Amino acid sequence: MFIKFPGIGPRQAERFVYFLLSSPQSYRQELMRLIGTLKDDTKVCVSCFRFHSNRADICSVCGNANRNKELLMLVQKDVDLDNIERTKDYDGYYFVIGGTVPILDKNPSTLIREKELIETVEKRAKDGLKEVIFAFSVNPDGENTAEYVRKVLEPLLKKSDIKISTLGRGLSTGLELEYSDPETIKNALKNRV
Ligand SMILES: [Zn+2]
Repeated sequence: MFIKFPGIGPRQAERFVYFLLSSPQSYRQELMRLIGTLKDDTKVCVSCFRFHSNRADICSVCGNANRNKELLMLVQKDVDLDNIERTKDYDGYYFVIGGTVPILDKNPSTLIREKELIETVEKRAKDGLKEVIFAFSVNPDGENTAEYVRKVLEPLLKKSDIKISTLGRGLSTGLELEYSDPETIKNALKNRV
């Protein structure tokens, strides 16, 4: 079970099992209850596609009209969005593309929310969007994803005079955004090109 968790190897999975075996039954029951209600308590935001636990259909970021409508940041996954939000240095909106496009993949459009992305950018373009920021991992797959998304969005962006920028290279190569510290992300944001 735990071996399917992101970033967890067989040894760690085994430690989780031993931990559960040695923890009180009340803890295990509470954990089971929380896992059982996880799906009921979370929704996917209809605007940025992140998971959220609001009662509304849109998350607190998308629902906040005071954010900067000129900026839209594209991230690969929810945890990247959370990490950027934590820096409190970015006040634009987001879109979670929901995956990566590995090099040589034959069907890239099935790996990310391509249709939804185009619709979002079209809608935001009418609402004053000026810049789309790529916040993808600095590794070959992340770069390939950027290249693919750029190709998808280019005609649309040219038409509306919207520029594309990429998070600065302050992020070290091979490091996922997920594991970057707030200071590094802040610099990467400031130095986007
Ligand atoms: Zn949202």
